[in-house]
Amino acid sequence: MKYQIYALHNYRQIPQIERLSEEDIFSIEVVGTVLPFKTNSYVVNELIDWDNYKEDPIFILNFPQKGMLEEEDFNHMAKVLKSGADKATIKTEANKIREKLNPHPAGQMEYNVPELNGVKLTGVQHKYDETMLFFPAQGQTCHAYCTFCFRWPQFTNMDEMKFAMKEIDYVIEYLRQHPEITDLLITGGDPMVMKGQMLDAYLSALVEANIPHLKNIRIGSKTLGFWPYRYLTDSDADEVLNAFKKVTDAGMSLAFMAHFNHYRELETEAVQAAIKKIRATGAQIRTQSPLLNNINAKPEIWSTMWQMQVSLGLIPYYMFIARDTGAQKYFGVSLADAWKIFQQAYQKVSGICRTVRGPSMSCTPGKVRIVGVSEIKGEKVYTLEFIQGRDSNWVARPFFAKYDPKAKWMDDLQPAFGAEEFFFEQEFSDMFLK
Ligand SMILES: *Cc1c(COP(=O)(O)O)cnc(C)c1O
Ligand code: SF4
Repeated sequence: MKYQIYALHNYRQIPQIERLSEEDIFSIEVVGTVLPFKTNSYVVNELIDWDNYKEDPIFILNFPQKGMLEEEDFNHMAKVLKSGADKATIKTEANKIREKLNPHPAGQMEYNVPELNGVKLTGVQHKYDETMLFFPAQGQTCHAYCTFCFRWPQFTNMDEMKFAMKEIDYVIEYLRQHPEITDLLITGGDPMVMKGQMLDAYLSALVEANIPHLKNIRIGSKTLGFWPYRYLTDSDADEVLNAFKKVTDAGMSLAFMAHFNHYRELETEAVQAAIKKIRATGAQIRTQSPLLNNINAKPEIWSTMWQMQVSLGLIPYYMFIARDTGAQKYFGVSLADAWKIFQQAYQKVSGICRTVRGPSMSCTPGKVRIVGVSEIKGEKVYTLEFIQGRDSNWVARPFFAKYDPKAKWMDDLQPAFGAEEFFFEQEFSDMFLK
């Protein structure tokens, strides 16, 4: 199958675009100048339902929508474009708007870059003891771009903000120096945009390094959703699958962390065939998605998605709360609604689907799950817990925040019962004063 990319400069060649109103096309132009925009022939021809494009979750997932920018910013960019401004001006104005959208949420840049022998490793993050993240330089793009993505600064030419790294040798050396690490998560962008040969080089090096404490290699990828032909007809498909097999043959687990936002992404013949191919290598596939207004903010969508995943042999893993970045205004769901949607979906599925954890916020101190809304001695509160913490002692200790129906993120929450701060806050701030 031929992989054809569409972006701002050529999306009008997509035959189905003829069905769009002038207004929708103009919105794509305006918003696509600020937020990332890229789609491809698979998404366009096999996933999007063009008869119903305005409400189609996959269309919204890839095509910029007017509501994704503040009205003021939209109008400003519209004016800039209509004035026939030159490229440099458009770029400057777009960057100004991007800066307002919290491009690096949860202290990703400042806090998580580790050092090896005194040198900063910019393509690595090591936030939680057991799991290290690696961003290979060749995997910093994706087969299409999600309009909600918090990695968007990586795709919009703001080079100084990129995390990237070439050298697997440094990663291996760092792993050797850190016996607490059991998991290496290779992520991006999407590491599966990498050529098969390159992926094989990375995975082979990790296998050959024979690091006894490294048990699990995870690969975070949206390819099953955006380009399943990666495992079917791409010329290096077999090389990719063989590289996976090397990991499992070496006795390590390979967890393919698949990103799916809607059950529609699981319905095509191509995705189902690709899933079979990956599972045949001995890899496990676990799934994750943020909860997104306008895309999947209904319990039935999640319960159907988890059930289909389990039928296809996948393991539901995370439901995330949309981060406080980019178009959060458009995609954000309140914490109260997030919990309701999770609960209603979770109640409808059998125990085999209840491996999923969430709804969870990836904050600077850790991953915080909303356990529920409770009433304790007359005070309505959110019960929360860390499912992952910068200090592992924080994990699995319930704590409480004042109920606020409008809260959308951890920063919006206050401790309940008159406490001045949450139990971890002192220890958390001490970590950065050393
Ligand atoms: C989620 C996450 C991990 C992995 O955590 P698990 O609980 O092992 O799934 C690792 N590092 C970062 C920065 C994360 O956000
Ligand atoms: S596939 Fe992942 S990294 Fe790529 S645009 Fe979507 S959310 Fe972002």
